[in-house]
Amino acid sequence: MFVELKNITVHYHKSLAVDDVTIEVPEGGVVTIIGANGAGKSTILRALAGLVSLTRGQILFQGERIDRLETADRVRRGIVLVPEGRQLFPYLPVITNLRLGATLRRDRAGIAESLEYVFDLFPRLKERAKQDAGTLSGGEQQMLAIARGLMANPRLLCLDEPSVGLAPIIVELVGDVIREINRKGISVLLVEQNAHLALGVAQRGYVLEVGRVVFQGDAEAIRCSEMVRKAYLGG
Ligand code: ATP
Repeated sequence: MFVELKNITVHYHKSLAVDDVTIEVPEGGVVTIIGANGAGKSTILRALAGLVSLTRGQILFQGERIDRLETADRVRRGIVLVPEGRQLFPYLPVITNLRLGATLRRDRAGIAESLEYVFDLFPRLKERAKQDAGTLSGGEQQMLAIARGLMANPRLLCLDEPSVGLAPIIVELVGDVIREINRKGISVLLVEQNAHLALGVAQRGYVLEVGRVVFQGDAEAIRCSEMVRKAYLGG
């Protein structure tokens, strides 16, 4: 398996946030974790990125245990997080925000190629390269956050709620962008409250409730599950 989170448990101080969760992402796949506010979705991504430590369990990347590695070493292996709330530098230009995504890279030609790739994918960012990130619309800022993630040359791009606060038409665009990134061969782990978006782009998914996986399967099977339809798809 490409990426495996095996029986991971995460606490914040003494409070349990993720309880014995196992998630697998195949190489070249798009996998989603859906669930309500506070279910533990972001915590799983933070654990994968090395921003919180595990109480129990293991994280494997191509069979290698990475759960004790620093975040930077995980990024070098290609595990890249686009965090919730975008976390851009609003008073820095778009181009600087993008270059910051490539901070750990030394391959100048590769960085130039990535920049060309993200400007092709997001022409608006090219037009606005010199503008401060904070002057962009919400949708453009989300695209910038994704583009900055791509500048790190990911093999697994982890997206934390990219649809939050966006108009429905922009949410659809986010879906198109994820499909396009995946066509390039980048695997995706997508955390979403918007189950429509998530199950429209992912091949497989996990449903999380209060820190535990309560359902998993093909996106189609999840869409058809009565429990999921009632709780997350409006009936
Ligand atoms: P959201 O959509 O709100 O981000 P989520 O499913 O991503 O929800 P998490 O953010 O992973 O959920 O939170 C899981 C649990 O851990 C929640 O009960 C939350 O209150 C708690 N939690 C999250 N971050 C912290 C923190 N830094 N310190 C203490 N508790 C936290």
